[in-house]
Amino acid sequence: MNPTIARINELCAELRLNGVLEGYQALADECAKEQLSYCDYLSKLLHTERKTRTERSSAAILKAARFPKLKPLESFDFASSKVNKIQVQELATLRFIENQENVLLLGPSGVGKTHLACSLGYIAAQQRLKVKFITAADLILQLEYAKSQGKLAHYLNKISGRIKLLIIDELGYVKFNAQQANLLFQLINKRYETGSIIITTNLSFLKWQEVLNNDEALTTAILDRLIHHSHILNINGDSYRLKQKKEAGVLPFNSKPKPRELIPS
Ligand code: ADP
Ligand code: MG
Repeated sequence: MNPTIARINELCAELRLNGVLEGYQALADECAKEQLSYCDYLSKLLHTERKTRTERSSAAILKAARFPKLKPLESFDFASSKVNKIQVQELATLRFIENQENVLLLGPSGVGKTHLACSLGYIAAQQRLKVKFITAADLILQLEYAKSQGKLAHYLNKISGRIKLLIIDELGYVKFNAQQANLLFQLINKRYETGSIIITTNLSFLKWQEVLNNDEALTTAILDRLIHHSHILNINGDSYRLKQKKEAGVLPFNSKPKPRELIPS
C-alpha cells in the first residue's frame, strides 16, 4: 500500500474519523474529475464524516431503546382501531416530549397500545432523542436490584436525567408489593415535570390501587403526577390479533376474548 494512504488510514483510525476513512478516496477521485478545489473536497469530506456520525449515533440510540419490535407509525392501521388518529398524529410531533408531558395508553389486550408506544418511541429515536422501553415488571426488577446494591439514587438519576422518553409497558399485569409500589412512586416522582413517560396498561384508573399494594395514598400520588400533564388515549375495541384471526376464518365471528380487566367504555 502507498505509504501516504497507509498513514491516512492510521490517522483516521486513531482519530476515529470513520466517515473520512470510508469516503476519502472515492471522494478524492470524484473531486479530481470535477476539478474541484481542495476546500470543496474538504467540505464534502467533513459532510461525509458528519453524516456517518449522525447515522451511527441514531443507530446507537435505537439499539439502547430496546424496542421489542420496530413498529413504525405507518404500519398502524387506524381504520381498524378506535384510537383517536388526530391525537396520535399530534403526539407524533413529539411536542409532548418537549413539554415533558406523559402519555397514558389504556385499553384491553391486543388493541395496539404497545405498537403505538413503540411507534412514538421510534419517531423520538429517529430524532436522536434518548428513549428507553421497558416492561413494568422488568422496571421493578431493575429498581429492586439497584436498591439492593445501594445504587437506587444512581439508577433513578440515570433513568431520569439522560432519557427523554421512558416507555413503561404493561402496567397492571403484575401486582406490586409495598416496596415495589414505593419504588415505582419514586421513579414517577423523579421524572415528574422533568421527563416524559408513556405508560401502557390494561387497567382503568379505578383498578390501579389493586396493583399498587392496595395503597390508596400512594396510588393517588402516582396518578396525580402522571395525569397532571398528560395525554390519555383510551382505546376500546377488540384485539387486533383476534380480529385478524376472525377475518381469516380461524375463529368464529362471535367468539370473545376471555374476561379480564377491561376498560369500561
Ligand atoms: P396491546 O399492547 O394493546 O396488547 P399490541 O400493540 O401488542 O397490543 O398489538 C398486538 C398485535 O397487533 C401487534 O402485532 C400489533 O402490531 C398489532 N396491531 C394492533 N393494533 C393494530 C393496528 N390498528 N394496526 C396494525 N397492527 C395492529
Ligand atoms: Mg402490550
